[in-house]
Amino acid sequence: MDAYSTEQITALQRQFEPATPQEILRWAADTFGDRLTVVTSFQPVGIVTLHMLQDIAPRAPIITLDTGLLFPETYALIDEITARFNLNLVRVEPELTVTEQARRYEGALWSRDPDLCCHIRKTQPLEKALAGYDAWITGLRRDQSTTRADIPVIAWDTRHQMVKLCPFAAWTEDMVWTYLRAYELPYNILHDQGYPSIGCWPCTRAVAAGDDVRSGRWSGRAKTECGIHFDLAPASQERA
Ligand code: SF4
Repeated sequence: MDAYSTEQITALQRQFEPATPQEILRWAADTFGDRLTVVTSFQPVGIVTLHMLQDIAPRAPIITLDTGLLFPETYALIDEITARFNLNLVRVEPELTVTEQARRYEGALWSRDPDLCCHIRKTQPLEKALAGYDAWITGLRRDQSTTRADIPVIAWDTRHQMVKLCPFAAWTEDMVWTYLRAYELPYNILHDQGYPSIGCWPCTRAVAAGDDVRSGRWSGRAKTECGIHFDLAPASQERA
């Protein structure tokens, strides 16, 4: 697709900053049709997104990155929500299985070079999966971390050459949980066991009450992002 100009994006940001997530999702569905996709890891905000889309674009393609290293509880939740919402789900897998990666990189790559592991198992597969779409919806929120504090509701994604939407940018953790509970939606039971943010099992741990919601991800490392939303250091981008 042709790139959106800075002026177009600025105007859309001004238009949608005060909008509700439903208004943003509806505009996206009307504007991009079947060239719109949602990328979710079935965190609470992803589940809210999928619930809202039931009224707006129930057959929108939903991409989830199956690294092969998700918790059993996450796989169970994906199955449950896929069945309940009759999702048009695309499970995207890396080229290397977990076993093949362990063979090529001599064991637990995530413990020695998590950026490379995320590149192989998340960033690279997502880049392929997004090809052919004009816009993607994410669940990024400003209150999740300092790296996300300034995210706009809509942006031109230069890496993927498409529009990137964050309809929940201005929502808080409390708002997400209020919505989930109001509609009695399913969620990952690990959230009740001290896991506020859930990724792959080797890189996710429980945190103490009141700790930063993403502090259990890559705990003990400087790494705070997997790289699908923010570029990581170039040195770690391609050594596969
Ligand atoms: S989160 Fe951990 S296990 Fe999952 S892809 Fe990234 S480094 Fe690998």
